[in-house]
Amino acid sequence: MPERIERWLSTFELHASLRPHVAVVVAALPGEVRDDLMGDPSFTLTDFEPGPGRSFRVNVGMPRLLKQGGGGAGASRAVVLKRRMWRSDAGFVRWVIAHELAHAHLRNEGRFPGDDPEAAADALAAMWGFPRPG
Ligand SMILES: [Zn+2]
Repeated sequence: MPERIERWLSTFELHASLRPHVAVVVAALPGEVRDDLMGDPSFTLTDFEPGPGRSFRVNVGMPRLLKQGGGGAGASRAVVLKRRMWRSDAGFVRWVIAHELAHAHLRNEGRFPGDDPEAAADALAAMWGFPRPG
């Protein structure tokens, strides 16, 4: 499994200092969540360095046709991480990664109608072993 994850992560432009943290989080995901993300050819994961005069573009995979009544299920999913955050402690970095992957898995929705997407992302991240730091 770690090799499969490494191979998958190598297809994204990710800073070398973030990649090991992403690998740890992806390895800890429940199988169905990992398969959901790794099996989505339009899923993208990248990072950027915020700063004055810098801009960034998110390369989003080709959106697939939305099936009627399918909600956001066909929309492309992109996770963008702040490169600079790798300087924070590992618990924080991994929580951010897990939180963002949870948003992607939930397609920026809650777990159920009326659920707050932010609370849902934190709840999933905590369930996967990456609680929001103190
Ligand atoms: Zn969020």
